[in-house]
Amino acid sequence: MNTDTAQTPSPVLGLYDRPMWESIRKRGMHLQCCQGCGAWQYPPGPGCTACLSENVVWRPVGGGGTILSWVIFHRQYLAAYPAPYNVIAVRIDEGPVMISNLEGDTPSGNWIGQRVALTYAEMPDGAVLPRFTLAA
Ligand SMILES: [Zn+2]
Repeated sequence: MNTDTAQTPSPVLGLYDRPMWESIRKRGMHLQCCQGCGAWQYPPGPGCTACLSENVVWRPVGGGGTILSWVIFHRQYLAAYPAPYNVIAVRIDEGPVMISNLEGDTPSGNWIGQRVALTYAEMPDGAVLPRFTLAA
């Protein structure tokens, strides 16, 4: 590995996160879905936060979402994220809210309400992250 390559911060792996990050690495993100009430949840956990069922299964998400909020950072905090860079809050179509980045074209005005599509970014150090692009 090139030692000059900025290292992407590693995911913080709790007890239930590994299947999600493995699915992201394979570029087909899965989240937990409750077999009892149908609710999707993120972050992953031991059971459904809506109905308390322990019967949750990993299912692929559809990849669509809507931007709830956004910000552009003009100060660099991490070597892997040179400024300026954006951060977006996306409500994916399944319901959960994820924090990510918008890649490619950006809206000229307000970003809130813009439809986005899930994509996967391979960082210079090989890490794969879920990101979003404006929906066609
Ligand atoms: Zn449930």
